[in-house]
Amino acid sequence: MTDNAAALGALKQYFGYDSFRPGQSGLVEAILAGRDVLGVMPTGAGKSVCYQIPATLLPGITVVISPLISLMRDQVDALTDAGIPAAFINTTQSPDEQGMVLAQAARGDVKLLYVAPERLDTDRFRDFAARTPVSLIAVDEAHCVSQWGQDFRSSYLGIGEFIANLPARPVVAAFTATATERVRRDIVGMLGLRNPQVTVTGFDRENLYFDVIRMDTKRKAAWVASYIASHPDESGIVYCATRKTTEELAAAINRAVPALRAAGDAAGGVADGLDSLGPVAVAYHGGMPADVRNQAQRDFVTDRIPVVVATNAFGMGIDKSNVRYVIHHNMPESIEAYYQEAGRAGRDGEPSRCTLLWNESDIVTRRRLLDSDYENDRMTPEEQEINRANKRRLLDAMIGYCRTTDCLHTYMTRYFGETAPAGSGTGDANGNGDAAKCKGGCTNCDSTFETLDVTDIARAISRCVHDVMYDYDDRNQPTRTPMRQGLGSGKIVAVLRGSRAQDVLARGLDRCPSYGRLEQTPEARVRDVLSQMTTDGFLFVSEGRLPIVGFGKRAAETVAPDFHYEIKRVERAASSRSGAASSGRFGAATVASGPALGSFEPVSEADEALFQRLRALRRDIAQEIGKPPYIVFSDKTLRDMARVKPTTDERFLGVNGVGESKLKQYGERFMEAIAGFGD
Ligand code: ADP
Repeated sequence: MTDNAAALGALKQYFGYDSFRPGQSGLVEAILAGRDVLGVMPTGAGKSVCYQIPATLLPGITVVISPLISLMRDQVDALTDAGIPAAFINTTQSPDEQGMVLAQAARGDVKLLYVAPERLDTDRFRDFAARTPVSLIAVDEAHCVSQWGQDFRSSYLGIGEFIANLPARPVVAAFTATATERVRRDIVGMLGLRNPQVTVTGFDRENLYFDVIRMDTKRKAAWVASYIASHPDESGIVYCATRKTTEELAAAINRAVPALRAAGDAAGGVADGLDSLGPVAVAYHGGMPADVRNQAQRDFVTDRIPVVVATNAFGMGIDKSNVRYVIHHNMPESIEAYYQEAGRAGRDGEPSRCTLLWNESDIVTRRRLLDSDYENDRMTPEEQEINRANKRRLLDAMIGYCRTTDCLHTYMTRYFGETAPAGSGTGDANGNGDAAKCKGGCTNCDSTFETLDVTDIARAISRCVHDVMYDYDDRNQPTRTPMRQGLGSGKIVAVLRGSRAQDVLARGLDRCPSYGRLEQTPEARVRDVLSQMTTDGFLFVSEGRLPIVGFGKRAAETVAPDFHYEIKRVERAASSRSGAASSGRFGAATVASGPALGSFEPVSEADEALFQRLRALRRDIAQEIGKPPYIVFSDKTLRDMARVKPTTDERFLGVNGVGESKLKQYGERFMEAIAGFGD
């Protein structure tokens, strides 16, 4: 049998999948042929399969290096359930237990052994690795080796040396979802990959609908609650910027959602979901006691509580495949971070939604944080400066995502260094998304925009930024000395709108020529234009505790006679959808229930009812075996099952995601449920 056929056979036998996804087969074949690889794929694309399938076929053991303990347990559970012998060693085990696992592995009773990078430093493990034939080393989240990435971990630096010291060099396979060229080069260098086959797959996730909504902070909680209330059967993650917000928002959701649902029911609307009895949301952050945090994670992962409200501490180790939506309550610090977090939606390939709520104060907060990063105390001042500039660049791209009127899928794929994927729309030259809609769907392709001429506002702002750098005498003439430092954006807006605030008057700012020049323009508009000018390079906002507005590279253009400046703002959602809640004059109009997702097959009511029945059965089984429901079957598999309605072993095996081990363990009960359905 060729490697290729053997690999496909294993994919079907263990995982129940008929074919490899893009990128997978090339990586699998290269590994089987003895070549190092680097696989760069977005979250959810299926990196694990790329080393798990070779692991089942190679003679020796595969050591998987993975940064998070919770991820290990999950992966090992899933593998064992699929009939592949796997184990992990980590600090949650006693030395005796660890010894047992190593002995098992040394006997060849384990095909995949998961360890954290710190483990490689221990004598015991080095000893084990020197005596046991290791065929493959798989390094998950390989970008952790690079200081240019988001999640640098010094423990990753030891991996290269560990490999170099092995008696026989195994194949080394590295995987990451971070695609920048620089990080990729670091991975190859630091891990010592030899002539690796590098595969970068498409970064577009076509089952995700991207939504960006600009919204005042005070409206966010109500919006999130109403979204959750109108998606009662769905599991979701809400990411917040601070620990405090996670707790407040979770409490607000738990107060508001039951009432909203009751109102919906009374109006003959939303049917009661399976999860309507307990709390709807649970908070999760790094400051909670470990047991409370672990319970929160368990409740979410086992579908007991549908929504987790978390800081970015949540998720790296979570492989829950049926997360139907991810809402960001604030703007994250980079596209990398956003894509990784948002990408936790829809890992099973089913349509899912990623919504980002943001406003100007997010930008201010993020800029401020750029300067207060004390993590890297050991860096020299030059290194710190490079680090800051790097972070600033990442942040600017994130702001660009919030502000763009182009297709959001295209924005992402461009950012990750791809050209626009075929068939995805970018809107026409006027930013009118109607021309061609992108495949996965996004709010920009679904919206129409109005173009606003803001030339005069932009000129006034530019003038004011200049003005406030000087002091003025009684005749409103600049004194030239001493030159001021300039002001923050809030003050600039206040001066332009002729504020009578104490600090404006006390500093004599009412004497500068542009004072009150935009009295007639709404404050929100002035702020909006100022912010857009920063994004477009006319202005530059310094980082630090008190960010100052100065001139950007394109500042001179604003005084040219032919200067013309327009911005685009969402006018309304293109198709009218019930209950559209406009978020103000400049906000995107959007609906809590959201547009129909993607171009997926419609589901009949009967199939939907059967799907719910199968879900309930899955939950019972999961409880019996003490594992998360998605370890039993993914939502996608259950949907396929509800459609196919298999009642024989052969047809059951034909369902996407059913392998031999699953058939043996669960086939009978699911087929019974299917046969008995509708009786
Ligand atoms: P990643 O590690 O890249 O984030 P995973 O390896 O967790 O992604 O895979 C995401 C989901 O896709 C899992 O549920 C996995 O079982 C599924 N999957 C992977 N490969 C295939 C395939 N060839 N066909 C169908 N589903 C797949």
